[in-house]
Amino acid sequence: MLDRYTEQTGVKIELVTDSTGPLMARLQAEGQNTPADMLLTVDAGNLWQAAQQGLLQPVSSTVLEENVPAKYRDPKGQWTGLSLRARTIFYDPSKVSADQLSTYADLADPKWKGKLCLRTSKKVYNQSLVASMMEHLGEEKTEEIVRGWVANLATDVFSDDTSMLEAIAAGQCEVGIANSYYYGRLLDEKPNFPVKIFWANQGTTGTHVNISGAGVVAGSDNPDGTLKLIEWLSSDEAQGLYASSDKEFPVKVGVDESEMLRSWGEFKKDDINVQKFGELQTQAIQLMDKAGYK
Ligand code: FE
Repeated sequence: MLDRYTEQTGVKIELVTDSTGPLMARLQAEGQNTPADMLLTVDAGNLWQAAQQGLLQPVSSTVLEENVPAKYRDPKGQWTGLSLRARTIFYDPSKVSADQLSTYADLADPKWKGKLCLRTSKKVYNQSLVASMMEHLGEEKTEEIVRGWVANLATDVFSDDTSMLEAIAAGQCEVGIANSYYYGRLLDEKPNFPVKIFWANQGTTGTHVNISGAGVVAGSDNPDGTLKLIEWLSSDEAQGLYASSDKEFPVKVGVDESEMLRSWGEFKKDDINVQKFGELQTQAIQLMDKAGYK
């Protein structure tokens, strides 16, 4: 996508990639002397943390206001969502039928004992999911659910979503929770991958969706140019690339979702403002720890 931007504008972009933690530590250490202009990362929980740490600067953009729904943007303009990912339920169709599935909370029911697989609670994706449940259901109910998940685990928690999905395919577990694009990428490699997607919470609050996104770095010496790039990433062309090559959902309404994403069917998304995932992150981590979710 960045190469495409360079082709169109002549603006060269130097890309430094790392996990969010080290990248943010580096921005922190470099302060105003940073060569960085834009922070591009995943999860509203991470972007919220970056803003809290003063690593981003507020921008105002009518283009972003038009392209990105308000619930996927920082109200102060320090970061914006650029793609959507659903964190939902996956299952082994040889053992489970879709009508046995309903909500994240239902995966705490004893009927799933020894059948559930989860990724580690250390991953921000699960912290954000639990934060959304705390917002909808309250702390007490959420803790009860998380305890139920832990009691139902088929095996130790996984370090990543892909191995969790592969464990379902291998028959190690029957149900699990993962981000939609990992499934999409597995299907790209193995069109007959024997796992199915289920849209969670359709009768209640809607499926949990999170963002990937970007913000202008506080120490950037080119905030205007950086904002142009972020605006371009919200354009129809870039949004289409998120859907076709990255298997994420466009954040911009009306952009074509690609054949694979459409094949998963329409679904109701949780309407929560994603900055809640940041606000409740510390409490979510504490709750998961208390509930014994490793
Ligand atoms: Fe991911």
